[in-house]
Amino acid sequence: DTAIVLFTRDLRVHDHPALSAACERGGRVVPLFVLDPEVPAGHRTGFLLDCLADLRESLRSRHGDLLVRRGDVVAETMRLAREVEADAIYASADVSELGRSRERRLAGERVDVRLFPGLTVVPPGALTPSGGGDHYRVFTPYWRAWSRSRRRAVLPAPARVPVPSGLVAGDLPDHSSHPALEGGESAARARMNRWMTRGLDGYADGHDDLAGDRTSRLSPYLRFGCVSPLELADHAEAGADEEHTFVRQLCWRDFFHQVAWAFPRINRDDYRPGSRRWRDDAHAVSAWKEGMTGVPIVDAGMRQLLAEGWMHNRARMIVADYLVNHLGVDWRAGAAHFFDLLLDGDVANNSGNWQWMAGTGNSTRPGRVLNPVRQARRFDPGAAYIRRYVPELAGLPAIDAREPWRLSKEVPGYPAPLTPVE
Ligand code: FAD
Repeated sequence: DTAIVLFTRDLRVHDHPALSAACERGGRVVPLFVLDPEVPAGHRTGFLLDCLADLRESLRSRHGDLLVRRGDVVAETMRLAREVEADAIYASADVSELGRSRERRLAGERVDVRLFPGLTVVPPGALTPSGGGDHYRVFTPYWRAWSRSRRRAVLPAPARVPVPSGLVAGDLPDHSSHPALEGGESAARARMNRWMTRGLDGYADGHDDLAGDRTSRLSPYLRFGCVSPLELADHAEAGADEEHTFVRQLCWRDFFHQVAWAFPRINRDDYRPGSRRWRDDAHAVSAWKEGMTGVPIVDAGMRQLLAEGWMHNRARMIVADYLVNHLGVDWRAGAAHFFDLLLDGDVANNSGNWQWMAGTGNSTRPGRVLNPVRQARRFDPGAAYIRRYVPELAGLPAIDAREPWRLSKEVPGYPAPLTPVE
């Protein structure tokens, strides 16, 4: 018996139910990843290739290997299935439209397709509201049900992955790692362990402080499944306040995943249709993308995104709110830009949060608008975040860096605000 384990966004060996089940079956196991040549090389490519190199290493240390092929995922998987005479395909169940269409197409082939949990702490659809419906639309009741739910046990990495002999692994393209963050399960586990022993301290009070940068930065690893969200939640669930605040963030991730699972067009259509009208403003959109709106806290966030492929959550909220509520521009334009640049860019979290900010999604207060100046005063009181990312303002005292329009003279190279902000 031979089973292919098709890896997608679950690039790890620890707590990998599909891999463990395939290894326990007793036959041969062929781990596979198919690179999609249609996806343009972007910010996430180097990170993904790090993940694949690391996964290959750890499978090899378990007597296994990782086969890498290029092309259409279903065609390549079936070609390999014929080559190795596999009778089953094991994979982690996905939530996105693309992932689920891959699963449907595989199910249409003459092979046994088995799907396993692993992408979220609680699988989408496992919790349903008592009032009816296939998913939760509101976070707080979801959080309550989620916190009480029974979980599967975290699985150890399999000791041995018995690949058949004579397979050609396939080369991984040469690449350079992301300058700020190395991809892969080894780096993810090291970061998770550091975070649990040292980082979590102060999270409850500090996670909104923009300059303090006190969050885990585990999101790219969660995006590619280098770390199991269940293992992370189990680790963090000891019960103190810090853990509680952090685990709640992991629950947000599950929440948006179950929304995306139930509403696959989340990246295109309003979850609550007809609730907003948008204006076209190409000039404003490009100023926003470049970090040249003239509103320093917005520009700092957008420039962090350009420089690092990552942005602090509070800044994501401020810049998203600015685009949709102050400039009146369609959330889809913002979400697409984020998706292109974010290392953690992920359909469920990205579109779910954008729709939340735009008032077209799951927010229970859809009319709420943030004041960027008040946000900056509260979450960047010393303007250290602004000065870090907007060098034109770096030499100014905090209040002037935050509100340069108060100065009698223009700051060289820095624009006047696109919109009145007070
Ligand atoms: P931590 O504070 O350490 O949180 C731990 C984990 O909890 C994160 O890694 C993430 O997996 C999860 N989490 C935290 N906040 C949220 C949230 N609001 N929604 C869902 N999950 C959350 N997150 C993505 O992973 N991918 C995206 O494409 C994405 N797009 C976003 C777009 C907008 C407009 C906004 C407001 C938020 C977006 N987020 C997205 C959520 C959040 O900003 C990031 O998950 C977080 O900043 C990642 O940093 P961290 O790992 O240090 O977070």
